[in-house]
Amino acid sequence: MRETTQSALDWRRYPNFRPEEFRCRHTGRLRMDPGFMERLQRLRSAYGRSMVITSGYRDPTHPAEAAKTSSGAHTLGRACDVAVHGRDALDLVVLAVAHGFTGIGVQQRGLRRFIHLDDLDATTDRPRPTLWSYA
Ligand SMILES: [Zn+2]
Repeated sequence: MRETTQSALDWRRYPNFRPEEFRCRHTGRLRMDPGFMERLQRLRSAYGRSMVITSGYRDPTHPAEAAKTSSGAHTLGRACDVAVHGRDALDLVVLAVAHGFTGIGVQQRGLRRFIHLDDLDATTDRPRPTLWSYA
């Protein structure tokens, strides 16, 4: 069953994004973190181009999360994947770092090219800031 739009978030604060883009593709749940969304909107305003969100919130039962040993930034509502490549991808990464995103994941091979962005804090077993590529 789908939940209605998350009450804690005022989506009017993020005029370039719609809640539907951030719902868990597996459960329909929507639990984005307000601080992350503020940061993402500031990034979007600086970037000045449309951003296609291919993954936002993920419930811990989402197959991509259930496969991990510990659930990631998407389950905390503090991550999204943006479909982007080439010059736009480079511009987005540069701006994301400047706007305080601390986790940058790069998938730039094949048909589904995207950049993962999150703003998690560093912990002893999770260094931040960091950049990685997907296998
Ligand atoms: Zn991601």
